[in-house]
Amino acid sequence: NQACLEEQRIVSYRQGADEKYQRELTIIRDLPIGLAQNQLYLVFQPKVDLRLNQCTGAEALIRWQHPTLGFIPPDEFIQLAENSGNIDIVSQWVLQQAIKQLVAWQQRGMLLKLAINLSAHDLVDTRLPNQIASLLKDNNLPSGALCIEVTEGAVMKDAQTVVSVLQRFRDMGVSVAIDDFGTGHSSLAYLKILPVNEVKIDRSFIKDMLTNSQDVMIVNTSIQLIHGLGFTVVAEGVEEPEGVEILRNLNCDIIQGYVFSKPLKAAEFDLWFEAFNHKNPSGA
Ligand code: C2E
Ligand code: MG
Ligand code: MG
Ligand code: MG
Repeated sequence: NQACLEEQRIVSYRQGADEKYQRELTIIRDLPIGLAQNQLYLVFQPKVDLRLNQCTGAEALIRWQHPTLGFIPPDEFIQLAENSGNIDIVSQWVLQQAIKQLVAWQQRGMLLKLAINLSAHDLVDTRLPNQIASLLKDNNLPSGALCIEVTEGAVMKDAQTVVSVLQRFRDMGVSVAIDDFGTGHSSLAYLKILPVNEVKIDRSFIKDMLTNSQDVMIVNTSIQLIHGLGFTVVAEGVEEPEGVEILRNLNCDIIQGYVFSKPLKAAEFDLWFEAFNHKNPSGA
């Protein structure tokens, strides 16, 4: 009987593994088709400047509504795209869409900075800065309208090349943000050598601030450190108004989180932006 149970466990484990493997293969196979057929789209999450009480930027986040698998979270398919050597087509698509959105915003008189997420593989391509420079120029966009978000992990893959690529961005006037700060390895050593403008404190430290004084301590110290190095501080994943007040008292510069808005489709974002910035006139 024991042996029988064991046998069943192995069979169901194998079935689970097979299903997972099949799903991954489908995702990898269908990604280029999905991009070509507009199954993927960007959503935009506001970044609110606490000093101005204004939305001054947004982060572009990718979404995929697959015809048979349904919604596939980016955490799942981005990693598969990275592992299968397909991340470059995703990043190129995101970049093109982001530029289109910036042009649309500029035409509506909406001045805001749009951040896109790039992967390690993108950042070792030394042609990328020039490509982005031409894209901005051809579309009459100021380079300050774009921000590149990268994780510490992405930098560690080939620090020398990544640092030189990021340096080019900063020289061009494109912003660079360190994403998920505090979750990677040797954060402090890398912060010292990275040419960045902005550091985003990971949600894992933000989410329990209301109940855990150690997290408040970590966030407080991180803010001091990031400011001391001359960078702008963004808190990621703030969900409660109380969190906003704590962060305001800790001198955090910018907040991104459900407390202000979830990521929105372009048309909804425009309405949200109009309403929010109208309600909180600049300089108030
Ligand atoms: P990320 O760049 O750190 O993005 C922030 C994530 O936190 C987003 O998840 C966002 O929806 C979520 N978030 C924001 N505010 C809150 C909040 O208040 N509460 C909670 N619970 N979550 C919040 P999302 O959109 O699922 O993206 C997950 C990750 O996938 C991103 O983390 C990024 O690493 C990656 N990703 C998304 N879009 C792209 C893309 O276009 N290119 C690349 N390379 N990666 C992307
Ligand atoms: Mg990000
Ligand atoms: Mg993040
Ligand atoms: Mg993340």
